[in-house]
Amino acid sequence: MPFVNTVKGAIDTAQLGRVLMHEHIFILSTEIMQNFDTGWDEEERVEDAIAKLRALKTAGIDTLVDQTPVGYGRHMPRIERIAKEVDLHIIVPTGLIDFHDIPHYFAYSRAPRAGQRDALVDIFVKEIEEGIGDGPVKASFIKVATAAHGAAPEVENRLVVDDHLVSFESKLELTDDACIERAAP
Ligand SMILES: [Zn+2]
Repeated sequence: MPFVNTVKGAIDTAQLGRVLMHEHIFILSTEIMQNFDTGWDEEERVEDAIAKLRALKTAGIDTLVDQTPVGYGRHMPRIERIAKEVDLHIIVPTGLIDFHDIPHYFAYSRAPRAGQRDALVDIFVKEIEEGIGDGPVKASFIKVATAAHGAAPEVENRLVVDDHLVSFESKLELTDDACIERAAP
């Protein structure tokens, strides 16, 4: 039975119904929010998201792919909270919004020591196999957003050269539960 991971657990792909393939429940600049008053009201925004997603279901949508990996202010507990309140399947990725520059954390973890995996790959694999953060939600695909100028070469190189990810990708293709996506606006 082909399956796909959703925020509320794995489901048979036959249950997906009508799917919106590229949405963002939230795009946030968390470092800005931590340093400036942006007027963000957590409760208000969560309630607004729940109302809008319920309206989607009423309009005939069954599944939403929230293409929001690291780099867009992803916070999975918030998405889990919303998912519990709506009758929608929500699918989430691992991955990185890199555009021109790779985040410093990954830039400085460039060279893994012998026996270690690349930090980028490590996180991507962990989020698919074990879950995102401390929670149970598993990513279903790897998103590397590129926009019109293409992926940052460093990100592309690090993903392509890693043997583990290449074999992992093959496994995912065989089991039909994930895909590698490069998104363009
Ligand atoms: Zn997008």
